[in-house]
Amino acid sequence: MREAQPTAILLQDYQPPAYLLERTELQFLLYEDHVVVDSRLQFQRRADSPAGAALQLHGEELELLSLAIDGRALEPGDYELTEQGLEIETVPASFQLQCRTRIRPQDNTSLEGLYKSHSMFCTQCEAHGFRKISFYPDRPDVMSVFTVTVEADRARYPVLLSNGNLVASEDAGQGRHRATWHDPHPKPAYLFALVAGDLHYVEDSFRTCGGRDVCLRIYVEEKDLGKCEHAMRSLKKAMRWDEEVYGREYDLELFNIVAVDDFNMGAMENKGLNIFNSSCVLCNADTSTDATFQRIESIVAHEYFHNWSGNRVTCRDWFQLSLKEGFTVFRDAAFSAAMGSPTVKRVEDVKLLRTAQFAEDSGPMAHPVRPESVIEINNFYTLTVYEKGAEVVGMIHTLLGPEAFRRGSDLYFQRHDGQAVTCEDFIRAMEEASGMDLGQFRLWYSQAGTPTLRIQDEYEADTQRYTLHVQQSCPPTPGQPHKQPMVIPLAMGLLGDAGNLPLRLAGAAPDPETADNTSRVLVIDQAQQSFVFEGVAERPVPSLLRGFSAPVRLDYQFSKGDLHALMSRDDDGFVRWDSAQALATRIILEVQDQLQAGAPVAVDGLFTQACSELLADESLDPAMVAAMLALPGEDYLAELASHAGGADVDTLHAAREAVKVAVAGACRESLLRRYEQLASSAPYAPDGPQIAARSLRNTCLDFLCSAGGSHLERALAQFRQARNMTDRLAALRSIAFYGEESQRESALQSFYADWRHDSLVVNQWLGLQAVTPAGDAVARVRELMRHPGFELRNPNKVRALVGTFASQNPVHFHRLDGAGYGLLADVVQQLDGINPQIAARLLTPLTRWRNYRGRAELMCSQLRRLAAMEKLSPDVFEVVSKSLEDAD
Ligand code: ZN
Repeated sequence: MREAQPTAILLQDYQPPAYLLERTELQFLLYEDHVVVDSRLQFQRRADSPAGAALQLHGEELELLSLAIDGRALEPGDYELTEQGLEIETVPASFQLQCRTRIRPQDNTSLEGLYKSHSMFCTQCEAHGFRKISFYPDRPDVMSVFTVTVEADRARYPVLLSNGNLVASEDAGQGRHRATWHDPHPKPAYLFALVAGDLHYVEDSFRTCGGRDVCLRIYVEEKDLGKCEHAMRSLKKAMRWDEEVYGREYDLELFNIVAVDDFNMGAMENKGLNIFNSSCVLCNADTSTDATFQRIESIVAHEYFHNWSGNRVTCRDWFQLSLKEGFTVFRDAAFSAAMGSPTVKRVEDVKLLRTAQFAEDSGPMAHPVRPESVIEINNFYTLTVYEKGAEVVGMIHTLLGPEAFRRGSDLYFQRHDGQAVTCEDFIRAMEEASGMDLGQFRLWYSQAGTPTLRIQDEYEADTQRYTLHVQQSCPPTPGQPHKQPMVIPLAMGLLGDAGNLPLRLAGAAPDPETADNTSRVLVIDQAQQSFVFEGVAERPVPSLLRGFSAPVRLDYQFSKGDLHALMSRDDDGFVRWDSAQALATRIILEVQDQLQAGAPVAVDGLFTQACSELLADESLDPAMVAAMLALPGEDYLAELASHAGGADVDTLHAAREAVKVAVAGACRESLLRRYEQLASSAPYAPDGPQIAARSLRNTCLDFLCSAGGSHLERALAQFRQARNMTDRLAALRSIAFYGEESQRESALQSFYADWRHDSLVVNQWLGLQAVTPAGDAVARVRELMRHPGFELRNPNKVRALVGTFASQNPVHFHRLDGAGYGLLADVVQQLDGINPQIAARLLTPLTRWRNYRGRAELMCSQLRRLAAMEKLSPDVFEVVSKSLEDAD
């Protein structure tokens, strides 16, 4: 065990900073084996902080060369230096601190602070990276105007970038040059960025609603110049959308994006200089799938939207992270919905939420949207903060309606422009602009766990009254044994024989937010409530949680017939999809029971019939048909089973496959027909209709292949003839899953031979082999870790191979001999010394040990093995110790 255990930081201990920082001047001298950083910081004591307060600066892994106040050098006795930073006991009320440090970016494998990716220098400062660059008050409520000079060798680093506008550019002698950047907008250090490298760019421009022209550039390695067009188009669409929908205009002359291969997350919203993981910005039709095009559009928008929700208005402290992330995810989701099919976008987001976020919320790392205690902040860039945080903003939108919500966001941006604020400030702006009391609603920020809505109904034919009885509850989570009732907007309708029925809620006016009266939002705010509808002429099927109006579990005993009716006839697209999923889940669990009882497999004909109907309905968006046909994933099914004593992964997998084969058999003709009919010879475009057609066509192919035999020939032909990466990879996946070993191996080999030069494509290839259930996946992953296409220091490679294996190949990860768990723990152990942030993230699947039947001891023993390691990062320490907290 490590000597000193890291301690938790608490929200309730927040103190404002004693000193404000008006100006930050930085100079970087970049060399191959070290970098010298000079800073001049203009401090001012805050009016209400006591005279004589000490100055606290953060700093980690820095070599201090010199320190002075107002030109007077400080002696070692004048300050105290620790592992965490330095403290100067006595400082004047207003002064300039000059500091020189030396750092070694070439040895920085954590990818936080200033580091090298191939030959490029780049930075990642959120959340605590700046303290690895220089001594500084590295906290988001200290905002400062930055001027940055970068000096480097001209031949190796012709491009020198930082935030804001370029104000000077000059020769520095001896083959070196220098550039000075000034950012007029005060910002916290986490938004600082610096890039130096041999970069090329694609340029465009954007005229803002205020009539200013902004120069847009995407900087990449020369070989990637042909992969920038889609990101550039997405950026311009996002800029326009934010003007039109939120009234937000861009505020600098320049907007730069840089693509970097080694990056811990997706992208970073540094002011005027967004840095992107290359996998989240580079794409073209030859090398990228439809999913990649869509992801890039949404991430480019997300980072751009942060310019207002995050940068102009930032967070007071990191417990408020969801203030910027939840709101920005909400904004990017609305943008993506507007750019494509809103229902399909919603379905994808809900899938992620219900599998991964719900699992997080019921696991040992569960925390509120606004956490109250944190050991390592990097562990809190979670699905709860991002996705559930976005759902919480979405519920405010639902409760207020679009106009009041827009007034609220206007007030928030205007009132807090240039400030570092809290979730409370956001809620208050929403309340003031709408006149609505969100008092009880605030529990969504402080209570962890996923609430359940248990609903029962009653119909009286003689009085034509239909009653919904609603009960809410929320399970205990770490540190929160008892929960208060929340405010849950329940969007609903009632389905009759001929369609949705008009709603007459006893004692209420029609819902003003819905034009027709067949849909409304019931506000659940007590532990138990009942709602009576009048004039209901027939017993309806309730259409509940339309559009997934709240991040809750729904518990209502639908019959299979009810689900079939909803999936075929309800007005709400989301409910149709959800009912198809619920029906498929029911069928898979029935087959699992049959397998466990040793009985012959019999798939209910109602389900295969529903699938045929879907395939036959050409009036439906093919993307919706594909989403509705796709069987719920094994991860989702396992999450559901966590309430019932844990998932039995092997029979679950077998049952799901058996249902797939049954659909392939029963719907063979219609699958083939749609497969042929949806073929297209049009040139590739990542547009809605084409993406929809490809997704349904490849879904049909995969069902057919699950039945094996001659269908594999079709996949092999598609693999050889495909003219875009979506179709090629889809075919390869079906071959890898369902082909003979020789087919699988030769297709995988030929794919690698064709694409080995493109690292991002190689990552797709690694990921596919990691999820393939056929063969010995543990041995395959171990072998691929020694392949030249793999690199432990590159987070994208680790995620593609090891992360994908552990999170998406349940049968092999959960092998009963523990080999899958051993593999993951081995990698985490090795990686912890290199990149703790990625090591801790990789560990997530092991924290779910309560969800898997018969595996708890095996999983915990690997967690214990990690806990016993001598040098453990705070990142991994936090995950391991919380996961083992009440394991016997
Ligand atoms: Zn973000």
